[in-house]
This record gives sequence, C-alpha cells and structure tokens, in this order.
Amino acid sequence: MKKQIIIVGLDGGTFTLIDEFIEEGSLSFLKFLKENGSHARMLSIDQNTRVPISPTIWTSLATGKRAEKHNIKSFFNLQSDIKSARFFEIFNHYGYSVGNFGWELTWPPEDYGAFNIPCNMARDNRTIPKEASAVQELRKRSRKKASGFLSNLNLFFRLFSLKADFITLVKTALDVSKKSNDKRKKQFMNLMNGSRIHFMVFKNLYKKYNPDAAFYFIPITDSGAHYFWKYYDKKNFPDIDAKKRSAYGSYLKKIYEEVDRQLQEIHKMNEDADLFVISDHGMKPIMEGSFETISLRAKKFLEISELESKVELYHVGLNCVINVRENSPIDSKFLYNYFKNVVITSIKKPFFEIVEMDNTGRIFLKVLQRDKGDYEGKDFSNLQVRMGSTVAAMSELVELNDLERSADHDEWGIFMHYSKNLKSGKNLPDCEIYDFLPTLLKCAALPAADDFDGKSLDIGYKDCTERVPTYDFLVKRNNLREESDDSFVRDELKRLGYMKDE
Ligand SMILES: [Zn+2]
Repeated sequence: MKKQIIIVGLDGGTFTLIDEFIEEGSLSFLKFLKENGSHARMLSIDQNTRVPISPTIWTSLATGKRAEKHNIKSFFNLQSDIKSARFFEIFNHYGYSVGNFGWELTWPPEDYGAFNIPCNMARDNRTIPKEASAVQELRKRSRKKASGFLSNLNLFFRLFSLKADFITLVKTALDVSKKSNDKRKKQFMNLMNGSRIHFMVFKNLYKKYNPDAAFYFIPITDSGAHYFWKYYDKKNFPDIDAKKRSAYGSYLKKIYEEVDRQLQEIHKMNEDADLFVISDHGMKPIMEGSFETISLRAKKFLEISELESKVELYHVGLNCVINVRENSPIDSKFLYNYFKNVVITSIKKPFFEIVEMDNTGRIFLKVLQRDKGDYEGKDFSNLQVRMGSTVAAMSELVELNDLERSADHDEWGIFMHYSKNLKSGKNLPDCEIYDFLPTLLKCAALPAADDFDGKSLDIGYKDCTERVPTYDFLVKRNNLREESDDSFVRDELKRLGYMKDE
C-alpha cells in the first residue's frame, strides 16, 4: 500500500524562534512534533551573497542535488532549465499522485495527478485545476493598494467557491480597503489574511484530490521575521521605542502561532499521513544601524555610463540585475568586464563588490558595502568613481539606505518528521538540504539514486534495498522556452521588498 505524505515548507522557518516560543508556552503542535517525531537543523546554502537564491534551494530540496547538477543558479531561471528529476516526477514514476501548492519553480503548472498551484514567481495565473486561479489573482491584487477587493465581487465569489471562509474574506476585504497610516499593522494584516485564504484553498484541494503526496508552502515566516523581529527581541534590540514594542512586539509570535494552527489542522486532515516540516533557510537578527547599506542609483548610473538604451536594470535587494536588451549591439561578456573594471579611485577599490554572470547572460551587481571597512575614515561625499573613460561623484551614483528589515536569512533551516507509527522524539544530528529527497524516498520505501548529493536521515525507517543510478531520465520537459514575461517577477520582487519602484 502506498504511504501518504504531506510536506509543509516554512519559508525562513527557524528553531531559534520555534524553541523560544515553545519555551514561552506557545506552539503546542510544533512542540508535539518535536517531542514525538524526529527533527534536525538543516543546512542550506551560503546566504551571504544577498542574491535571492530560493529557486536554487528549493530545486536542491526537490532533486537531492547541488546546483551544478540541477542547473538552477539564478533567480531568473525557469522550470524548463531544470536538468534533474524532482520529487514530483519521481513519485509520479512510482504511481503516486502529487499535489503542489507553492513549490518554487513550478510555473507553468505541470500535471502531477492532483492539483498544482505554482510558486510566487509565476508569470501568469495558470493553475491546475483552472478554478483555483483565483488564488493567484488574489496574490497580484493584494499588491495594488486598496484596489477595491470588495468591488471585485467576481473574485470574491470564486474564492468563496474554493471554500475560503466567508468571514475571512469579508475581513480581508475590509482590511485591504481600510485607510491606515500604520504601515506595519497593514503589512501584518495582509500577511495573516493572505495566509488564511491560501490555507483554506489548500485544504479544499487536498480533500477533493486526496493526493498520495502533497506540498504546502507558508511564506509568512520569512516576511514576518524580516519586518517584525526587532519589535519582539528585547535582548538584541534594547533601544526600540516602548510604544512601538507594545504595538508590534507580538506580531512575529502571532505569525508562528498561525502557522502552528495550520500545521495542526493539516495533521488532523489526514492523521495517517507522514508529515514533514522543512524550511529553505533560517532567519537571524541583523542589528539595526550596525551599518547603512548602499544601493545603486540605477537611472543615473546607466545615464552616465551611456548604457541606458542598451540594457534593462532591476533592483534585487541591494543587488541589481542587468539584462541586455534585445537587438542591442553589446554583449553580456563585454558588459561583465566593463562592470568589473569600474573603480572607486580615491580608495582604489572596485565599485562593485559582486559582479556575477549567470547562465542566461544576466549580470548581478552589488555596490561595495560598508561592513568590511573599505570606506573607513573617508568622506563619502568626496569619493570619485571611474567607469571607462568617465569619472563621476560617488554620491551621484549611490544612495544610503535605512532598511526597515531587522532580520536576514541564516543558513540553518529546519527539518521535522512525524509519523503516528513511530514515536521517537529524536534530535537528529545536523543535516543538509540535499538529504531531504533521499529521506522522503526512504519514508515511501522507494529507491535512492546514486547521483544524489545527500543521504537519508535516520528517522526510524529502513533504507530501501534497491538503488537506481539516476532518475534524470524522467525529465521530459522540452526546452522550448515559455514566452517570458518578467513583469510578474518584478511585481513579486517589489512585493517581497527586494525591488524598488523606479
Ligand atoms: Zn526572505
């Protein structure tokens, strides 16, 4: 008999917070999972580049392989670039149906025998089944401020027919249209309301399709920590204004309590299923004001370097992504060398601390930051930058930011497993993201492959005696590129706070 499996992904989920909230008497279900299942810290990839790398991580989780093998190295890669079989195809191969809600790089949605709701970076609203596309529309809509959720009765009723609860929908509609100057409160409400609607739709799809394996993604643990960490953490942020602390101090815990509630409901939905809870990376506090970050004034920079008409530039966090325009006379290699040679003459340092070109020819740039002391003792307003034969003032090209974020990605994520047939409560040794797929296969008594980079964890099951050399023969995707519309990506990056409005 096939074993049923449910995987829940907590974006940025971390034991640093989970353990602390459990200690305070919260998160009863996560506590139950820790005491009755297996858990371990799970090492992700280096988070220090600040290039958003979630597609790389999720593809490693799904394939058991490093980026060099599965080929997803950039934020802008598409599903069609993946060279290795993911758990969707592998489980399908053994006759399991798989339902997906939000796994990274699942657009355009492929049919794995149940539902498929693509990730946040989807370029359009396609879903399987079609009716569920209302969830994707909601995602776009919530970005436009007060765009009249109520006025769109059509969307409202389509979500209602997906079993989103009426009261939550009305509350969301009211919260969205409410005029409030309290940005943080509004952000918190948006996160909570959106998450609740997603969850109800997921539950509905799960009940309808009853897939052998299912995945559900929860993003609010990442955004919540980015924005609200400092208000709850007195130890690391002792100087937060008391008023603000009392207004926003409970937000992060409330977000984890919501997640705890959703996890418990997922478990109740199918108590026979093995439950996995994983994260792609952890989170850690960044002390406010420890250093101001520096970002590029994109328009000005392109204007002075006379690249305006030849390239497009997007902000991705502190980084920029440069994309050569179609029919442009210059190529990426030339640009790559050009950027490498831009120099801050007064301190004799490269202007960009990161210049990276990915396999699509797009170039990542990050201006030399202050944290390494390169600017020590220098008057910022006097620095000069040389690019090619042009010299410009540093102050014209960059801007100092006071970022509202108080937490950043940490490389230690979480791994948890629970089965009602195994009562272990085991604290496993640290593991890696590459170990997840082998462990998932072991749980289902399916063979691991010789080309995996990870190994299965000791969660209480025996390894399958069979092995296969590889599963990559299952990758049947043709390499025809979908018409790529980056405006969806740009909208999503803006929503995540990675990108500025220009
Ligand atoms: Zn994040």
